[in-house]
Amino acid sequence: MRCPYCQKAETKVVDTTHDSRGGVRRRRECEICGQRFSTYERTILNTPLIIKRDGTREEFDRDKLIRGIRISFAKTPVTAADIESLVNEIEAFLQQVGRQEVSSRIIGDKVIERLKNLNHIAYIRYAIVYLQLTDLHAIRDEINHLLEGEE
Ligand SMILES: [Zn+2]
Repeated sequence: MRCPYCQKAETKVVDTTHDSRGGVRRRRECEICGQRFSTYERTILNTPLIIKRDGTREEFDRDKLIRGIRISFAKTPVTAADIESLVNEIEAFLQQVGRQEVSSRIIGDKVIERLKNLNHIAYIRYAIVYLQLTDLHAIRDEINHLLEGEE
C-alpha cells in the first residue's frame, strides 16, 4: 500500500478492525514520512440487475431502498439500525440469488413481509404505495387483515 502523502511503498499496519458487514479497516503508518491513514477492504459481490415494473432495468440502489423504507417509518419507534439490518438482509439475498436479473417485485415482497412483522404503521404506508392500494376499501381490508392477525 502506497502512502497517499509521500507516495512511498514502505507502510506498516498499526491496527486492524473488522466491521459487522465483513469489511476490514486497517490503520496504517508510513515508515518514511510518518503520516497515518486508513484503508478499508470489502468483498465485492455482484448484485443482479433489477427489472422494474415497466420492463426497464436498473442497478440495485441500496441508498434508494433505504430512503423509501425510511419514509414509511417516519414517526415510528423503529431505529435506523433496524432499517439498516433490513436492507442488509435484502442485499445479501440478492447477492446469493445467483441470477443476472431479478424482478423488483421480489425486493418489494421481501420488504413488505418484513415490515408486517416490524411495524404495522410502516407496513400500511409501504403497502399503499407498493401494493397500489388506491381506494379506502382496499386499505381498510389490509388493516382488517392485520387486526385479525393480532387477535
Ligand atoms: Zn509517507
